[in-house]
Amino acid sequence: MKWYQMDADVVEQKLHVTTKHGLTDRQVEQRRKQYGPNRLETEKNTSKWLIFLKQFQDFMVLILLAATLIAGMLGEYVDAIAIMIIVLVNGFLGYFQEQKAEKSLAKLKEMSAPVAVVLRDGTWEKVPSTEVVVGDVVRINSGDRIPADIRITQANSLETEESALTGESLPVMKHATSISQDRLDAQDQVNMGFMNTLVTRGSGTGIVVGTGMNTVMGQIASLMVKTEKTTTPLEHKLAELGKILIAVALLLTALVVLVGVYQGHPVYNMFLAGVSLAVAAIPEGLPAIVTVALSLGVQRMIKKKAIVRKLSAVETLGCASVICSDKTGTMTENQMTVKEVFLNGKFLYVTGDGYDVKGNVFLNKNKVDRDFPNLEPMFLYGMLCNHASLMVKKGKNYVDGDPTDGALLVAARKLGLSHQLHDNYRIIKELPFDSDRKRMSMVVEDENKMRFLITKGAPDVLLPRSNYVMKEHGRKLMRSEDKQAFDQAIDNMADKALRTLAIAMKPLAKDESLNAATLEKDLSLIGLYGMMDPPRKEVKTAIEESRDAGIKSVMITGDHEKTARAIATELNLLPENGRVLNGYQLNNMPIAELRDIIDQVYVFARVTPEHKLKIVKAFQEEGHIVAMTGDGVNDAPAIKASDIGISMGESGTDVTKEAASLVLMDDNFATIKSAIIEGRNIYENIRKFIRYLLASNVGEILVMLLAMLMAMPLPLVPVQILWVNLVTDGLPAMALGLDKSEEDVMKRGPRNPKEGIFARGLGFKVVSRGILIGVVALIAFMLAYEGNPDNLIYAQTIAFTTLVMAQLIHVFDCRSEQSIFARNPFENKYLVLAVLSSVLLLLVVIYWEPLQPIFHTTALGLRDWMLILIFSFLPSVFFGFSKK
Ligand code: ATP
Repeated sequence: MKWYQMDADVVEQKLHVTTKHGLTDRQVEQRRKQYGPNRLETEKNTSKWLIFLKQFQDFMVLILLAATLIAGMLGEYVDAIAIMIIVLVNGFLGYFQEQKAEKSLAKLKEMSAPVAVVLRDGTWEKVPSTEVVVGDVVRINSGDRIPADIRITQANSLETEESALTGESLPVMKHATSISQDRLDAQDQVNMGFMNTLVTRGSGTGIVVGTGMNTVMGQIASLMVKTEKTTTPLEHKLAELGKILIAVALLLTALVVLVGVYQGHPVYNMFLAGVSLAVAAIPEGLPAIVTVALSLGVQRMIKKKAIVRKLSAVETLGCASVICSDKTGTMTENQMTVKEVFLNGKFLYVTGDGYDVKGNVFLNKNKVDRDFPNLEPMFLYGMLCNHASLMVKKGKNYVDGDPTDGALLVAARKLGLSHQLHDNYRIIKELPFDSDRKRMSMVVEDENKMRFLITKGAPDVLLPRSNYVMKEHGRKLMRSEDKQAFDQAIDNMADKALRTLAIAMKPLAKDESLNAATLEKDLSLIGLYGMMDPPRKEVKTAIEESRDAGIKSVMITGDHEKTARAIATELNLLPENGRVLNGYQLNNMPIAELRDIIDQVYVFARVTPEHKLKIVKAFQEEGHIVAMTGDGVNDAPAIKASDIGISMGESGTDVTKEAASLVLMDDNFATIKSAIIEGRNIYENIRKFIRYLLASNVGEILVMLLAMLMAMPLPLVPVQILWVNLVTDGLPAMALGLDKSEEDVMKRGPRNPKEGIFARGLGFKVVSRGILIGVVALIAFMLAYEGNPDNLIYAQTIAFTTLVMAQLIHVFDCRSEQSIFARNPFENKYLVLAVLSSVLLLLVVIYWEPLQPIFHTTALGLRDWMLILIFSFLPSVFFGFSKK
């Protein structure tokens, strides 16, 4: 017998579990040992050796190795050994960089791994999907990826999309009854849920019958293609730039070599100098350092509770000009509390805060109790048509489930209604809540087998569906003055920033059809709840800071227009002339018209997830780079279409998380702002080290080229050039990647996404500083050389040292867009350490005797150092005054 042929209780028996209690911790432990983790094994880790060997695959390194071989064959062993040492040191540095990047990416992957909701020892808990074992009772909701293969035991309007398995993209309706047929294909096993397929609607529970490679997905996993590593736009641009630089470098190198040979330098010397220069000029370390900078930035973002799912988002973040954010839970605390009730044409007030069940209901100043007409049914129905549970952790109440539902549970408790009352009712059918319907319903049967429907939802959705209204003396036909009274009450509550929710009921005959299309009609409206959800404290400042940074914050909410307006005003999000649009207006507005006014709109109210896509498009067509948040299944298209899709970590569904490039661990709007600052900073840091590395390269080429043109000896020997490039440059460049942002980073407008790497004067900085570095090194060389060949090694040491020192001072200049004097040089301790270690490495090759013949160096005296330091400061200080 197959799982789908068995009744649910047979499955329970076979797997030694009950759907009421779940597995025990011991069973879980044992089964995890037996079956291993619930994971598809499609990717193998690259071994450390391979990563290390990969460092020598690089084109430039291969050229160097070839040069070593030639040097060796010509008997130039010292050169050959020197190059080997440098290549090895470079290989190690590359290896460590890559390891670090890999580790942080792996950590990222782990953090954004999906979770499953399982019942263990009688309590529902969230665990990483990899820890699900056979026999686990799991709960699935719309938007979830099913964590393993399950036999469904309960289904509420449950639909899944199984295209990953079957290629069929239409959703499949699922149910819980057994199927007797034999040999069914996966798509016909409609009481089974399959690993990694998607719940598109409804909710359900099931028992896990297969995990990991023992699932239908596991069987085809080996056929799946590996995900390719994608490059970010910046990495792509740099690769393009790299090609140009290679061409320029090869050309210049050829020029140096030709001029050198023409001037009478030995061919072998010029060959080696040429190779070294080519290596110097081509910033082959650049992409690696960019990746490291990106991944280190990503780690900093994690500390600020933002998980980046796509590295490319880090770059785009810095360009964001609009943040479209959900209100509930992102801008507000998502701690709903019922504050007011509108019932029998009167306002009642509920005391107490948060999820604390202490509080009472008052009419004017008088406490009312359960006898107050319609109050008990209203609160009882609110409790029954509900999915949340009120739990206690560390002595404090919290809500597991939808906070709107949670608020109703708390209100019911304040009236003294106990949760046990649930046992007196049987749920016959459920029509789940979603943001499109803005309502949910349950068909309930009481102890006397009387059936009725409870519907709760947005008042403007329920009012047109209600023909009756509950009054003090029973059910009455709804008249227009009743409608008016409700409308006024809604306005009144919404003006106080309260979320409004209406509740209605309808008695049902035993044999009445439960057809979803006709069920929620002819309702009897009972009353309104007004719920408070206070804004998060930090959001107001975050909105202001974003505004200073040229980023507009826009609120998107399913709530009533007035509620949204009141909260937006409280948050200082809505300027005086700012507009509020609602979903109905959006429906009737062509996108061209929306585009024309969208810059004045700050709040979108009563919208459905479908509207979000239209909003994103309109902003984009107006030239904005849009960040868009979302949590439900239907938000995924808008998240995908936006430039920076953001999903909620806590309340977000798997589908939105997968579509998003950024996940907020704390669901907080303020975190988006932090991520944007970080995004801007990372990009600026990348600019910093590009500037540093390229200016260094320009300096090196220039000193050689000028010397050749002036018919002088080589100011730098090949190993020195290699040493500077592959060893002493690397660490400071990496440390620049860790630099703090300049103070004004959030006072500037967003970056233009079309701007090139060299925009905003970077190109000028590279060339101007590079030329000066080259020139001072050459002058220092000439002063030391004095036209005397006996001074050659001494002069080369001076030129080498001046070049390195000038670069190491220039690295501090690179930290600011303004000048070297703009920032405290000791602020970035990594940079200070990196520069010190580079100086130490320099001293080693100058002063350690065994290395002197290899690096063609000689010990320098105090006077030499004075000269060197004066020259080295010049390139950075010179422009410090002009601020160009
Ligand atoms: P935001 O978009 O700001 O996050 P939201 O997503 O919470 O808001 P929706 O969830 O779409 O907005 O809610 C819209 C309306 O639907 C609410 O104003 C409320 O009237 C109603 N509503 C919300 N939650 C429930 C629920 N659990 N059951 C019934 N109706 C609900």
